Amino acid sequence: APGAFDVIVIGAGAAGLFCAGLAGQRGLKVLLMDHGERIAEKIRISGGGRANFTNRDLDVRAPQRHFIGGNPHFCRSALSRYTPQQFIELVERHGIAYHEKHKGQLFCDGSSQQIIDMLLAECAAGGVTHWQPCSVGQIGFAPGEGYRLQTGRGEVRAPRVVVATGGLSIPQIGATDFGYRLAAQFGLRVVPPRPALVPLTFGGEDWAPYADLAGLALPVRIATGSKKARTVFLEDLLFTHRGLSGPAVLQISSYWQPGAPLDIDFAPGVDVQAALADAKQRSRKRIANELAGMVPARLADAWVGQDAALQRPINEAADRALSALAERIARWQITPSGTEGYKKAEVTAGGVDTRDLSSQTMESKHPGLYFIGEVVDVTGWLGGYNFQWAWASAHACAQALEAR
Ligand code: FAD
Repeated sequence: APGAFDVIVIGAGAAGLFCAGLAGQRGLKVLLMDHGERIAEKIRISGGGRANFTNRDLDVRAPQRHFIGGNPHFCRSALSRYTPQQFIELVERHGIAYHEKHKGQLFCDGSSQQIIDMLLAECAAGGVTHWQPCSVGQIGFAPGEGYRLQTGRGEVRAPRVVVATGGLSIPQIGATDFGYRLAAQFGLRVVPPRPALVPLTFGGEDWAPYADLAGLALPVRIATGSKKARTVFLEDLLFTHRGLSGPAVLQISSYWQPGAPLDIDFAPGVDVQAALADAKQRSRKRIANELAGMVPARLADAWVGQDAALQRPINEAADRALSALAERIARWQITPSGTEGYKKAEVTAGGVDTRDLSSQTMESKHPGLYFIGEVVDVTGWLGGYNFQWAWASAHACAQALEAR
């Protein structure tokens, strides 16, 4: 019948494109729909235009280490059944050259468009019907009949619907809360979404002394959380006009709870206290100059500049003043006032509650309704983990669709 499909996939981003192609190649009649004018905008802008498409360091026996969510173990089944190596093989089959950058992160040598073209070719190989742009309106369900969708191109029907509409980040390129609303419509729980992998901001007045440091980047150890739930990253931090960014801050932002402080060590691996005490014995240089041997000079100037007692040669400094300075370098504690929000967030944490989904198939408690990718309450670290979740959850779903 016209308008009848085996599967309708809503959202042609990373997860939707991959799932539609796999399901089509397994012999299913697939309709893929997206309301966006342009295809897979998030893949296009990802990784600075080169798409950090997976991460080699993902431990397939314990992948949950690199993911957060209400149930950290939920992601294991899918991630262990579709590994970074399998995606790398697909990329290689399509002749896409890539390189490893930092901590296992893989990027295209050319451009992220190559990943989009690869996914489109896989969809074409599966005979997928791709409607884009096409709006999706009401979705009805009747037992025995399946799902009925009102769309910009008329009514369509299928016994199974896959929701791959992503999260709320970057609304200017088409992100919507469609997936969360649909989940609620069918009685599924949703963990409240929040921006993650996002720069953190600090109250205007309090930030004034640090605003001049905008543009400064340096490696730090950054931590948040109480003793029991302590999270630590060793990465680069970037000062901005409004607050802090860079990989260290993006990573910690996914774990940060509003109101909680961050602890930042600007000289990881260096005993600043001992080094300053030692310098006091043998040097007549200014304190800021001695400190500049351990941290960038701009940071040393800013920290020393805050205290009149430190504007002097180090051999004339009081021990107490030097200890206090060392403490503020090794354990700077500061509480963010908030985040830069969805406009700047790389991902959305929270989403469709994994208690209402099968980790084997991604099917929800509502029969025939599946959720994959970022719309699910699984959030990866920075570094290609979010795409790997999109591929792996799409793959688990496609396997299940074929088996039915
Ligand atoms: P998306 O790729 O966001 O796709 C969702 C699709 O659903 C979109 O095409 C959208 O138009 C469509 N849609 C939404 N609402 C509707 C609706 N109501 N009706 C119809 N269609 C709808 N991750 C990495 O692993 N590596 C990176 O290098 C990386 N870089 C990033 C850089 C930036 C700037 C951003 C914002 C994110 C980055 N991410 C990266 C995260 C990654 O892009 C996402 O986690 C991933 O795209 C999620 O895949 P998805 O298919 O679930 O959602």
